[in-house]
Amino acid sequence: MRVDLTHPEFVAAIPILRRIEEAGYEAYFVGGCVRDALLGLPIHDVDIATSAYPGEVKQIFRRTVDTGIQHGTVMVLDHGTGYEVTTFRTESTYQDFRRPDKVTFVRSLKEDQLRRDFTINALAARHDGLIIDNFGGLADLDAHLLRAVGNAQDRFHEDALRMMRAVRFESQLGFTLEDATARALADNAPLLKHIAVERIAAEFSRLLKGINRTAGLSSMLTAGLDKYCPMLADQETGLAKFADLPARQLPDDASAWTLLLSVLAVPAVRFMKAWKQPNDLTGIVSRAAKLVPELVTARADNAALFAAGADSVAAAITAASYLQPDFDGQGWEKRYAALPIHSAGELALTGQALMDAGMKPGPALGKILAKMRTAVIAGELPNDKQVLLQAALAK
Ligand code: ATP
Ligand code: MG
Repeated sequence: MRVDLTHPEFVAAIPILRRIEEAGYEAYFVGGCVRDALLGLPIHDVDIATSAYPGEVKQIFRRTVDTGIQHGTVMVLDHGTGYEVTTFRTESTYQDFRRPDKVTFVRSLKEDQLRRDFTINALAARHDGLIIDNFGGLADLDAHLLRAVGNAQDRFHEDALRMMRAVRFESQLGFTLEDATARALADNAPLLKHIAVERIAAEFSRLLKGINRTAGLSSMLTAGLDKYCPMLADQETGLAKFADLPARQLPDDASAWTLLLSVLAVPAVRFMKAWKQPNDLTGIVSRAAKLVPELVTARADNAALFAAGADSVAAAITAASYLQPDFDGQGWEKRYAALPIHSAGELALTGQALMDAGMKPGPALGKILAKMRTAVIAGELPNDKQVLLQAALAK
């Protein structure tokens, strides 16, 4: 079996494989890029695995960077592009059910494939596209099955994050968990408590945005992984409701988290912080989650739309469309676009203009300015400097 390597990402990287081979070692494309190419999905980054040890890789190429040398990864720089070349390795002595504390470099591809999480992620492709499939990954790819490489119980014990990866891939690829893998998920869910929130969150947010969110969520709930996620432990009702929403794929992080928060009874900022999400996303999502109920009850006014801001309005509109089948998203988009101003800076009146007209700086000036802004947003006054100045001085 051969995979089509005409995708530009592969074409550009094939010379790297060949150079390594010419030096007498083996080199393959591995992991997600091979899986996605076989599935006809877009390729974002190509990973290369080799029998050459890091020091040997560095001798083959003129320009390299030690990006993760202790794990065997050397970045090879070629015409301005960096390629991660990782030595075949085995991982051992997993302590605390996360990340191995020792990696051993090996010369055998098969051993490297053996340490990978799922059979579909353990495929390797040679420079000519020939697939090396030591663990039945091709058959599972055909059958749309996620099967742990080797014994699923052991694999989840070694690294509990793999359980979140399982449900993430289920959602992202629309695959089904193979029976033993699903059972191991249910048996080992509590091990998730050993995994850093950031790493759980990265998988969970990809699950939320996957083409089969419903299946990924339902496996997560069946296995009880939710019990070990931040602030989800006692959210069974909300999560069941969330899993029942229209299956349509969610387009981005902001709308995904907003929709989740719209069905859970939890404070948005605290929730996003518990999930260690970035501040900007937390801001967007918390303002959006506040707006959603006002949108679905059609109570949102200009002031509420303005206060939410463009990103939050967009996320709230998307989320609302999942909660209400006949939700008029376009109507609300138009309504937001038609706001007289979209940020405080767009107000035609400035504090300076008020001072130039004789007002003293201070809290009173700030209040007047806020009043003018409110009036403009509500459409009660035009966003015109002279009109606003007159109105402000008359107060
Ligand atoms: P994507 O890039 O779409 O997230 P991917 O399969 O490439 O999917 P990565 O996290 O980039 O996922 O990992 C690359 C490869 O490394 C995987 O395909 C898998 O073979 C291996 N891998 C990653 N994480 C683990 C893990 N926790 N346990 C075992 N193998 C892993
Ligand atoms: Mg990848």
